Amino acid sequence: MAGVKDTTAAREDSEKAFALLAADVEQCRRCPRLVEYRERVAREKRRAYRDWVYWGRPVPGFGDTRAPLLIIGLAPAAHGANRTGRMFTGDRSGDFLYRALYDTGFASQPESANREDGLRLTGAYIGAAARCAPPGNRPSRDEMAACRVYLEREIELLKDLRVVVALGRIAFDSYLSLLRDRRGEAFRPAPRFAHAAAYDMGPEWPLLIASYHPSQQNTATGRLTLEMLTQVFETARQMLGVRGTGPSLA
Ligand code: SF4
Repeated sequence: MAGVKDTTAAREDSEKAFALLAADVEQCRRCPRLVEYRERVAREKRRAYRDWVYWGRPVPGFGDTRAPLLIIGLAPAAHGANRTGRMFTGDRSGDFLYRALYDTGFASQPESANREDGLRLTGAYIGAAARCAPPGNRPSRDEMAACRVYLEREIELLKDLRVVVALGRIAFDSYLSLLRDRRGEAFRPAPRFAHAAAYDMGPEWPLLIASYHPSQQNTATGRLTLEMLTQVFETARQMLGVRGTGPSLA
């Protein structure tokens, strides 16, 4: 029974730590440009959402807090996650991503409309390079550097982390810079961003898979198809199966 109690206590501690992290994220005002933008968008709204009370704050990570798979996005969309308060929720990018996660068994449903829609992730957790909606979907280098602390805390809390999927070059580079600082030196040869490229980062670090970001710019032009994104998560699942219980970054 002691083992069961220990496991339960550890789970409760982890849930508390994730809740604390979410509270810290939601209150953050470190980046004046993004604070001004996210709040202005929330006040002015898009006509189609004029009846919504926009979230208008930083968006915390979402998913299974014991996940072996971490998905890193870029930043909340102005009228998507900045409106609904959940990563990739309420816009076309989310429809695309959650469809792929559903088809590969990581999500309980393919739709993601709002925080109360019942969506659950199993085995996957979603973070981002920046937690506030940026103008033009482009956080600055300084803003991403300021926000990195939250991604680091998520990585520390995901004790069974074994695979990372970076959505888009910016998330990929941001994650690599985090690893480089933790490791004290760059990886050589340096992993290069290419869709579906997978990298074994050595025994101490999770495997890394790159993917095009499911932005409308990519999905509407056919640069990223649903089949391509689904294949990325199928690869992630296969890698999780192959690796068994692996090391975390903590
Ligand atoms: S982008 Fe990150 S660091 Fe900057 S205000 Fe938002 S939550 Fe804070």
